[in-house]
Amino acid sequence: TQALSERDPELYASITAELGRQRDEIELIASENIVSAAVMEAQGSVLTNKYAEGYPGRRYYGGCQYVDVAENLAIDRAKQLFGCEYANVQPNSGSQANQGVFQALIQPGDTILGMDLASGGHLTHGARPNQSGKWFNAVHYGVRESDNLIDYDQIQALATEHQPKLIIAGGSAIPRQIDFARFREIADSVGAYFMVDMAHIAGLIAAGEHPSPFPHAHVATTTTHKTLRGPRGGMIVTNDEAIAKKVNSAIFPGIQGGPLMHVIAGKAAAFGEALKPEFKAYQKQVRANAAALADQLIQGGLDIVTGGTDTHVMLVDLRPKGVTGNIADKALGRAHITTNKNGIPFDPEKPTVTSGLRLGTPAGTTRGFGEAEFRQIADLIIEVIDGLAANGENGNADVEAAVRAKVADLCARFPLYPNL
Ligand code: PLP
Repeated sequence: TQALSERDPELYASITAELGRQRDEIELIASENIVSAAVMEAQGSVLTNKYAEGYPGRRYYGGCQYVDVAENLAIDRAKQLFGCEYANVQPNSGSQANQGVFQALIQPGDTILGMDLASGGHLTHGARPNQSGKWFNAVHYGVRESDNLIDYDQIQALATEHQPKLIIAGGSAIPRQIDFARFREIADSVGAYFMVDMAHIAGLIAAGEHPSPFPHAHVATTTTHKTLRGPRGGMIVTNDEAIAKKVNSAIFPGIQGGPLMHVIAGKAAAFGEALKPEFKAYQKQVRANAAALADQLIQGGLDIVTGGTDTHVMLVDLRPKGVTGNIADKALGRAHITTNKNGIPFDPEKPTVTSGLRLGTPAGTTRGFGEAEFRQIADLIIEVIDGLAANGENGNADVEAAVRAKVADLCARFPLYPNL
């Protein structure tokens, strides 16, 4: 019964410091969001004590009658959100959701075709250091050099040449809408399964702000913690009964043991929120904010890859200012604006340096920032980067301090977790 603050002050201090960081800094990492107190309450609940190997109604342990209710709520709400017949809400992460689909549908040594990391794909889509790149013969498509857009003719040509068993659409830094119908045509032309990894855009899709993978995809995977604004975790959805059965066996007992029932309760809470009309308004605002941020950055002299964004995410090309991603990322961090350096397509710099930044609006929009605030944030970013351009690698301490003060003002106007 003793509070964490008394029982373990050292650990407690790290948590309160992180709360302070989230309150006082502008979060622009595109894969992050800010969950509701209700989601945290579910995730911090006694469900963490329960072993529940198996699926609702078919468990290997006794005493699962209440966690079954929670998991069924998560499943039913997920099905409603994505207009799907089947949902597996047990993957512990987006990576494990992808691994689950691979285990369900393909064999080690099979060929897979996914987007390369440098163009915005994800590690789990066949990158060399990842298990998906070691166990499968991974072939990659990229974007067109002339406009940085997905080149569907290239994907068709690669599919025809390499005859993949599985084609993957989706990634971590794709600012424009994906043409799922075209992907499915390509998959059908070579008899491949078509999987959509909608991790980044799941919230937009649930709200009708990005086309749905269905009816085109055989199966879709996602994380639950990005635009979808739930607890950290993964999920797999499909309309195909045979695939759903294989996916269930692949997740348990294939690659996981006991599901994280407290996280599944958090997913149920988040999916319940995502079914509400406010969530649609939120996702619309996420996109409007991203468009405003991109526009204002362009006006400030930066380039945006593809000239803008249709989604929540954009890639800033820093080269017009003669600054690299690693240096800009650190300087913005000193000014309390959190971003990540990111390679841009055909980046001349090493992955540890990069020419770009990836920015996203989901977290800031949850906090309450609108287009006016995101235009102000763009101006603050430009101020810091111009400070760097004028003063070299270590930036300009005075500029960064001035921006930090403006960030503090902005954050104070939009308090985060006021009841914590
Ligand atoms: N797929 C995509 C497209 C992602 O962006 C990510 C997260 O970065 C993942 C999968 C992996 O998710 P996780 O970090 O939960 O393993």
